[in-house]
Amino acid sequence: MLALTNARVLLDEGFADDRAVLVEAGRIVDVVPRSQVGGAKREDLAGAYLLPGFIDCQVNGGGGALFNDDPSVATIRTIGAAHRRFGTTAFLPTLISEDFTVIARAIKAVREAMSSHVPGVAGVHIEGPFINEARAGAHDSAKIRDLDTRDVALLSSLGAGRTLVTLAPEMTTAATLRHLAREGVVLSAGHTDGTFEEVSAALKNGVRGVTHLFNAMSPLHHREPGAAGAALADPDCWCGLIVDGQHVHPAVLKIALAAKRADRFMIVTDAMPNVGSDQDSFMLQGRRVTVKGGICVDETGTLAGSAIDMATSVRNCVEMLGLPLERAARMASTYPAEFLGLEAEMGRIAPGQRANLVALDAKLEARATWIDGQTLTA
Ligand SMILES: [Zn+2]
Repeated sequence: MLALTNARVLLDEGFADDRAVLVEAGRIVDVVPRSQVGGAKREDLAGAYLLPGFIDCQVNGGGGALFNDDPSVATIRTIGAAHRRFGTTAFLPTLISEDFTVIARAIKAVREAMSSHVPGVAGVHIEGPFINEARAGAHDSAKIRDLDTRDVALLSSLGAGRTLVTLAPEMTTAATLRHLAREGVVLSAGHTDGTFEEVSAALKNGVRGVTHLFNAMSPLHHREPGAAGAALADPDCWCGLIVDGQHVHPAVLKIALAAKRADRFMIVTDAMPNVGSDQDSFMLQGRRVTVKGGICVDETGTLAGSAIDMATSVRNCVEMLGLPLERAARMASTYPAEFLGLEAEMGRIAPGQRANLVALDAKLEARATWIDGQTLTA
C-alpha cells in the first residue's frame, strides 16, 4: 500500500488538506485523514496540488512523433511519454484525415498498444476523413470522402477502450450516425459546415459533442448560429476547447463557458509532434508546418494543430480565463472521462478509481504523475 501525503487533494467536494490518498494494485483504495495512514509506505508531496490525471481526447503527436506519419505502437508510446511530463495520464492518439488502410493500421496499433499496456493509451480518435471540405482546415482535402458501410465496420472494430470519431454530420445520414453510436463509437461533430439545424439534429441522433469548438466549423452568426451556436445551445453537447489563447480568443472562451453547464466543456490539446520536443517545424502529409510564437501554421498560414500541453492549458484556464483551479482540473479530467464514458474508471480521486493522478506545484507545473499507481517524477 502506498500513501500519498501532504498534498491539497481535489475530491468530489473540492480541495481538501491533510488527507492521504491510499493506492494499492493500481487503484485508489481510500482517502483518509493523514493520522489514519497506518503502516502504508508514505510519499510526501510537499504541499503540491494532487489532481485526477489529465485526459486528452485529441493528441496528434508529441516527443517528435506524429501519429499520422507512423501509426504504430512505438509512436503511441513516444507520444504518451511526451505528454505524461505535462500531466496527461490518459489520451487518444488522433489520426487526421487519411486513407482506409492507414485508418485500419492506426486502429490495429492502438489495439496492440492497449493489450501491451502502453501507459495512458485509452483508445483512438479518428478525426476525418468524413468531413466537409469547406471546413477542412489543415486536413488534406484529397483525403476527404463519404462514409460507407466498410468504414462503419472499421470504426466499430477496436474492441478495447474508446473510439472517438470526428465527422461532419451533414456529410452522412442520421441512420449512419445512430448506427455508429449504437456500436459504441463516440461521435463528435467537427470540420463541419453544417447549419444550426443540421448540427442540432445530429446532436439528437447520436453525436455527443463537437471537436475544437469554434475552430473548423460554421461560426456563430446572430442570424445563422451555425455549428458553434448549435453546440452552445444544446445543454448536453460536450465541447472540446483548445485553450492556447490563439485558436480561440480568450473573450470568446469566456462567453462559451458562461453559456451553459460547466460539465460540458473539456480541454483538448490537439498537440503536434513539437510538444515535448525542441522541434521548430515538422512535415504534415507532405506540407511543412512551422512552430512559431506558440502556434503551428502550414505554408498557407492555416493553424495546423497546436503547440500546447495539458498542464499549460490548465494554467491558461486559471491565469487567462480566471477560472478556479478546481474547475480547470475538472475540464481536464472529470468531464472528458464522462464524455468518453470512462467515468467509472478515471477522472476523480475516489475509492475504486484507477490511480491516475498528477501533482502540480504552486506554479501549476506538473511535478509527478501516476498511471495505475506507477509513478513518474518530472
Ligand atoms: Zn481538427
